[in-house]
Amino acid sequence: MTVSIVEVSPRDGLQNEAALVSTADKLALIGTLVSSGVRRIEAVSFAHPKRVPQMADAEAVAAGLPRGDVSWIGLVLNEKGLDRAIAAGLDEINVVVVATDTFSRRNQGVPTAEAIAAWSRIATRARAAGLRTTVTVAAAFGCPFEGEVPEARVRSVIEQCAAAAPDELAIADTIGVGVPAQVRALHAVADLGIPLRWHFHNTRNTGYANALAAAELTGSLPVALDSSAGGIGGCPFAPDATGNIATEDLLYLLHRNGFNTGIDVEPLLPLGARLGELLGHQVPGQLARAGLFPA
Ligand code: ZN
Repeated sequence: MTVSIVEVSPRDGLQNEAALVSTADKLALIGTLVSSGVRRIEAVSFAHPKRVPQMADAEAVAAGLPRGDVSWIGLVLNEKGLDRAIAAGLDEINVVVVATDTFSRRNQGVPTAEAIAAWSRIATRARAAGLRTTVTVAAAFGCPFEGEVPEARVRSVIEQCAAAAPDELAIADTIGVGVPAQVRALHAVADLGIPLRWHFHNTRNTGYANALAAAELTGSLPVALDSSAGGIGGCPFAPDATGNIATEDLLYLLHRNGFNTGIDVEPLLPLGARLGELLGHQVPGQLARAGLFPA
């Protein structure tokens, strides 16, 4: 059983941290991830630097990425972002479509239908430029403004996003409210013959259970899980919450459950302390503190 990991600490992790991390420190973090065997990394977001100052050095980070056997992903919010991703020589783009209108308006300034239309235009242009495309359906497990998101609504958004033929369909628990029963229900909805990727936050300590549930639903198509070294990041709607599920903790769980990821956990363990120094607080990941077992 194989599950691939998409490392999102340089993007989703750092974007949701108050501290600004230098380009050199970002590239050092990325270097450790690559040497541990991580082969897909969401490295940057092409957001407006005034809106997301943590990502203001996206071009400089992209210029410093080691090219070769790693597929580099940039989060793209609009066609200008796509232009930047192409110019920066990235391999993949990830476009977010929020499942609820209220959150979509707050996040992207447009209702979901307009975000889907924009994703569709971006997908066509990205494909023509030779980039792999992922569409992420965000707030699929719950919305900070509208609460429960009806399954019919998520189904409709997923199907409309899938119509633009992404290489991968990502389902995100953006605010970390989901549980494994929802993973199974959404898997049935999202099983459209497109490889799936899952994005979990550990806001309510359910992220690892959700990730394992998603991994266990592996069929014939590849499955990818997003995670963040140290579990860094946060949730803009729960100020004291932790971030993404931690890569090293997830790997421990997956490997001891018989999954192959191609990643060596051990080189990742020192990242917990290093990220703690850079961010000015202890990171949520537990494995770096507890240690591997067996030692
Ligand atoms: Zn996230």
